[in-house]
Amino acid sequence: MDFSAEMFKSIPSLVRRHYKAGELNWPMGIYISLVHVVAAVGLTYVPSASSKTLLFSLVLWWISGLGITAGVHRLWSHRSYEANFIVRTWLMLANSIANQGSIYHWARDHRVHHKHSETEADPHDATRGFFFAHMGWLFLKKEEAVIVAGRELNFDDLKADPVVMFQKKLDPWFALYMCYVMPAQVASYFWGEDFWTAFFVAGAFRYCVVLHFTWLVNSAAHLYGDHPYDPLSYPAENTIVSLCAVGEGWHNWHHKYPYDYAASEFGVTSQFNPTKMFIDMCAFFGMVWGRKRATKAWALGKARRERDEKAGIPPPVAPPRPWEKKKLV
Ligand SMILES: [Zn+2]
Ligand SMILES: [Zn+2]
Repeated sequence: MDFSAEMFKSIPSLVRRHYKAGELNWPMGIYISLVHVVAAVGLTYVPSASSKTLLFSLVLWWISGLGITAGVHRLWSHRSYEANFIVRTWLMLANSIANQGSIYHWARDHRVHHKHSETEADPHDATRGFFFAHMGWLFLKKEEAVIVAGRELNFDDLKADPVVMFQKKLDPWFALYMCYVMPAQVASYFWGEDFWTAFFVAGAFRYCVVLHFTWLVNSAAHLYGDHPYDPLSYPAENTIVSLCAVGEGWHNWHHKYPYDYAASEFGVTSQFNPTKMFIDMCAFFGMVWGRKRATKAWALGKARRERDEKAGIPPPVAPPRPWEKKKLV
């Protein structure tokens, strides 16, 4: 597929066009660029990091990943289960290590994304191509349609949660501390790692990698994979994204049934989903309850589809993908 070559070739002209139109989001663009520069420095520190620091970086990937998947995504954006104060506080701290904006703002953008997927009002509309859906959207000012859509939704549930509002009040300083400085303090205090080595490896480098793993859900899992549940939608079932994003790549199911706490049809033995395991473990200890599932709704949908097939009604035709349209924006 010449889509990726096409995509990279088109970036300079897109930047020029958006620059001339005054559409660049300079503060966020500079921040994201700096994150990558500091992460590149972090990469040069990897060979000198101790095995404990490398293992710690891996663990922080999973912990911060859960702060996104089990936390701001499945709990706060979709309310697919309920959690007590201890779990919510742990998830808020884990979410701060991921440093992807406050829970409040992330959940707001995400609810808009679901309500207006692949339209002008979708913050990371995948019909604009892989790069835009992945990270390009952060370099541009928000479309008016996205802002209006955000204003139309209700966020009283988030405002009513003191854990969410505590983090929002301290944003971005607390998240920056938890993301960059805390890992360095832990590694230097507990196993005597050099502060800056841990800062650059377990902080900066790990952060940037996890950012890309999360962004893959919006890019790769909206463009590549199967569509067994909703052939008309872009979101797809993508195993590689699930491996990167602690079980968040079963995206065709998730967009069809966003209230399902497992964000996938099957159990953890057939679909990689550590986030489901985490939520189930918390439920086992009585700290999580009200886990919603969509398997019954899907059984009805499947029966309807089989009826249509028998009656000779043709299956719906999938919408064109960006590389078929040959027009990137
Ligand atoms: Zn999505
Ligand atoms: Zn979602």
